[in-house]
Amino acid sequence: MNRGVKQFITTSRNLLCSQTRRTSACLISVKSLPKISNGAVAAQKRFLTQSVVRPISFKGIFGGKNEEPENKLFLEQDNLFHVLSNSPLPEMKDRAAIVNKYGVCPVCDTHLEKQETKKRPTYDCPDCGYPTHCSEDHYKQGYQAHHAENCAILREINEDDHDLRSGRPMREFEFPSAQGFDEAVNMANWDVFFYTRSFPSMDSDRSMRHVSKLLTYPMSIAAVLHQSSPYKYGEQVTAEGMRSIAALRTVLYPHNQVSNDAQSQVRTDTINIYLLGARAESTLPSHIWLQLAYLFPATPFHIHFIGPDALAPNQEPHSESVNERLFFTYDNSMYHDYHETIEKFDPYTDLFFLFSPGIGYPDARQGWKTSLEKALETKCPIFVTGYDEADMKNDVEAVEQDYNGEFDWILKPSVNEFRSLKRDVNLMDLRQTIFANYGIWGIRGKRYDVTHDPENNE
Ligand SMILES: [Zn+2]
Ligand SMILES: [Zn+2]
Repeated sequence: MNRGVKQFITTSRNLLCSQTRRTSACLISVKSLPKISNGAVAAQKRFLTQSVVRPISFKGIFGGKNEEPENKLFLEQDNLFHVLSNSPLPEMKDRAAIVNKYGVCPVCDTHLEKQETKKRPTYDCPDCGYPTHCSEDHYKQGYQAHHAENCAILREINEDDHDLRSGRPMREFEFPSAQGFDEAVNMANWDVFFYTRSFPSMDSDRSMRHVSKLLTYPMSIAAVLHQSSPYKYGEQVTAEGMRSIAALRTVLYPHNQVSNDAQSQVRTDTINIYLLGARAESTLPSHIWLQLAYLFPATPFHIHFIGPDALAPNQEPHSESVNERLFFTYDNSMYHDYHETIEKFDPYTDLFFLFSPGIGYPDARQGWKTSLEKALETKCPIFVTGYDEADMKNDVEAVEQDYNGEFDWILKPSVNEFRSLKRDVNLMDLRQTIFANYGIWGIRGKRYDVTHDPENNE
């Protein structure tokens, strides 16, 4: 991997451009750089994907109305591999066109001098179907060094993406609805979660990849909050972390909740989840977020999608309720401005989540400063994800340098059990692939600093 890997900031957010219109919106916003943003838009263009998650044939669940016309295409399971530029699916052809236009030929990139013209990749690898090199010559020359390892990965992505649009009934997207108060869910990892939560058909790795790519956002949050969390005190969770999580759990698990009588169900205080620098997560259909609410049957959730990319360019800030237990607010302000509109923060009910924020990326670091300072002031927990080890390390180092002495660790950097299992590829450089929310860590503003007034709500 070259140094570009360290430089790009993921856009697991970009990955979810879930329809053609939305995709072009994403491409436009990538082009209309530089827009200063919590999420380092300037850096985003380094990682351009066009991985679409919504299965074309599955309108019901994804709530599409006036999208593509009914698609009659049907690809059999043994006919999922297609050279992208020759794919029966226009969307996949578009992907090849993007690589042709913005991609890099690894041989040109590695061997040519600065002043020589580097050509774009237009030669299609017959094994993975992606345009990987500028010519057959460079393909042969660079196959071992630059492509052999990645070819199988790209082929899997190719087949997965054709499968999503194959027209087959996507049974794995038929999610379970509300859980009973007495239902015991185990959140140790994806497998036991799907099993204990009775997901209907999660019997192949491919299905797991499709579904985890969507559910990684709500489930990364749920995994921290849930009493069967994979992150344990003394291992990943610090003593300060346990205090924060225990405070939230006093609300999420009210003592008197156990009752099978629906009439007497307890309603707790609302948990506020502030998603800073929100992108892809703000484009997820509401039924994906409902899976978070279902895991805590007594608790209403208010999810705040905040940041310049939380809304499509033609949308105004707004709030909506999905049902009586799930509320959304979308606002494209910078977080530190949004912060001022919130009356009070309470470590028992409020937390922050930053999905791949790229805090350590030079272009983003300063932009995050005021927002992170505000979030630290609240003493509420702040959880952060990264798309690989290097990305996480980069953010952690920046935070340690910039906020030294102002925070306590609550969750040590760990591999996220609820990361996306589907790889996403950077269309601008096919050598780079990531897993959305690969790793997770957490901090909180120092609580008992003698120079500050202690919080008096304990
Ligand atoms: Zn070349
Ligand atoms: Zn290949």
